[in-house]
Amino acid sequence: MSSRKHQSTTVRRLTVVGILLTAATLVGGFTGLLHAEGSGGHSGHGSHSEGAAWVNGAYDLDWKVELSPSVRSFLTLTGEGVIRRADQVDNDPALALTAAGSSPLIESDRGAALWPNCTQIQVTVQVDERIPDRNLALDATRDALEATSRLSGLDLVDGGQSTGDTKHLSAPALNGIQVVWVPADSAHLIGRELGSAEVWHIEDHRGQLTIIRARVLLSTDILANYHAGSAGEGRNVQTAVLHELTHAIGIGHSADEASFMHAEFGAQAQTTIADLAALAYAGSRSC
Ligand SMILES: [Zn+2]
Repeated sequence: MSSRKHQSTTVRRLTVVGILLTAATLVGGFTGLLHAEGSGGHSGHGSHSEGAAWVNGAYDLDWKVELSPSVRSFLTLTGEGVIRRADQVDNDPALALTAAGSSPLIESDRGAALWPNCTQIQVTVQVDERIPDRNLALDATRDALEATSRLSGLDLVDGGQSTGDTKHLSAPALNGIQVVWVPADSAHLIGRELGSAEVWHIEDHRGQLTIIRARVLLSTDILANYHAGSAGEGRNVQTAVLHELTHAIGIGHSADEASFMHAEFGAQAQTTIADLAALAYAGSRSC
């Protein structure tokens, strides 16, 4: 999946594609299937294998967010208020995350591909001119970005908003995340998928996988099918955006059905302790 390599370039690329099938066969009306796929170059889309293991990178664990005692307990970190479990192996956050069903998007034996936490990440938001609910799209994106930044500690800054034709997209800028709201029939989307995240990474001078740019595509079908809500709480527009942004900072799917990072997150989706820990981990790569 993620480790297929280009021969000709040091930049490798992995695509995570979120597909929310709108087959209304489930009780409750809507079934969400978020399907992750990996692509090495242009070899087409194969299934992204779930359940990749986290590995503690040598430059990780430089936490930028304050970890609550419950998150510290989860991550097997010691500290005030932490409840030590009988089976706990201290200071092995990667093991704890993997055991809880969390996965990195891209990993090597030296750790997950993450953004460096001293880098300012410029986030641009483009809304296709054909989308009528521009304000809902922008509001939901802003909410989800705020949550991503707050929970990871990554320095996501406003790189501006624009409206226009999204038929042709420029490459995301270096150290940038490009968020694009596109019409449901956009050629950038595969089938009627509701969203996708694409992450570009390099192997840096320390041998660590480092994310250098990302693109999140969001379909107007999200606006048509979901209501506005709270990011990471239930199935709503904000949670759908947060799900893709969380991929864009290096986190893969969760095997936990309660998690908003589950491939088929449902109406009961929540930000679990493991999700909080994974988001904090994603912001812990020192420079
Ligand atoms: Zn996903």
